[in-house]
Amino acid sequence: SAALSAPLPALERIRADVQAMHAYLVQSSEGLLKLDAMENPYGLPPELQQALGERLGRVAINRYPGTRFNDLKAALARHARLPEGWALMLGNGSDELITLLALCCSRQDGEQPAAMLAPMPSFVMYPLAAHLHHMDFHAVPLRPDFQLDEAAMLAAIESLRPALLWLSHPNNPTGTLWDEAAMARLIEAQGRAGGIAVIDEAYQPFAARTWLDAARQRPAEHAHVLVMRTLSKFGLAGVRVGYLMGDERLISQIDKARPPYNLGSLNIECALFALEHASVFDEQARLIRQERERLQASLHRLPGTRPYPSEGNMVLLRVAPEGAPASEAAAFARCVFEGMKARGVLVRDVSAMHPMLAGCLRLTVGSASDNARMLAALTAALADAL
Ligand code: PMP
Repeated sequence: SAALSAPLPALERIRADVQAMHAYLVQSSEGLLKLDAMENPYGLPPELQQALGERLGRVAINRYPGTRFNDLKAALARHARLPEGWALMLGNGSDELITLLALCCSRQDGEQPAAMLAPMPSFVMYPLAAHLHHMDFHAVPLRPDFQLDEAAMLAAIESLRPALLWLSHPNNPTGTLWDEAAMARLIEAQGRAGGIAVIDEAYQPFAARTWLDAARQRPAEHAHVLVMRTLSKFGLAGVRVGYLMGDERLISQIDKARPPYNLGSLNIECALFALEHASVFDEQARLIRQERERLQASLHRLPGTRPYPSEGNMVLLRVAPEGAPASEAAAFARCVFEGMKARGVLVRDVSAMHPMLAGCLRLTVGSASDNARMLAALTAALADAL
């Protein structure tokens, strides 16, 4: 329109690097089976919907969130069995916590920028938060099997002395659960380098291990370690509740940067309600893990593709022929992605995220019927693409 093409000097006030950024991709999913964002497919059972509605109707929405905010912290501490001497803070999704950590570790103008280190491919919000807060982001490539390159990570920790080391455990988008001993050595090295290690356990409901066990068993080695979780993959992605746990001295500092009322009262009440019915969500997670194994087995039978092992509620699938040049592999994956979409199924084409992912799709594990529909669409789209 004419209004949009008129000059807008105020735009120059927005940082040039922000103007040059790509926005986080939220794909439109209207009319499609949504298997692109690692959501829980089951939703709230009807009898709980009614009870939740009644609870929400009584929330004092004229007041800022107060005591119920603290009740939620206490309920999450019980739910996670918070290690002794640790504290917990809340974020509007763990995305907000990632931003707050970068904000707290970034330095003022004139000082050497602080470094952030993560293996890559991993969660895209880590580099995004680093860039927004003028931290230097350093990526260490994963090995071809998507496990940690321990020697390269150790060398990076020693030379960069990063303020923040991120380990997504399990990793998004690969689904990998890192080798435990390698992880312990990296965390120890990060402690010696005087930095913070953040273990991002967004996919913990589907994983065989949690790093909280190590923190409980060896507390002295974990004063510099933060463990981050979210209720999103537990079944509450729409409610936006993430939480960060660690030594109370660290948490109390980071919590100062949090906007005071960062979680809405309705969302707090929803999360409390869900935790009172945790067994319902635990059972859903069990079903998803079971479906993941069934899906993996079916994908292994699909000729020409390679599913990677996963401890999350997603499976990374290489659809392009192994060894194809990156651009050809990416074009092939795009074609399969579009073919699936034309058949009503939305997954995520991760080819553009990282060169190692060229030719890969990330499939969220849905219900048994969702997965059957996805497999049918995938099989047909692959046949068309070949
Ligand atoms: N960490 C990882 C590894 C993720 O994959 C995601 C979401 N996909 C998040 C954090 C953010 O989750 P949320 O903001 O919903 O808590």
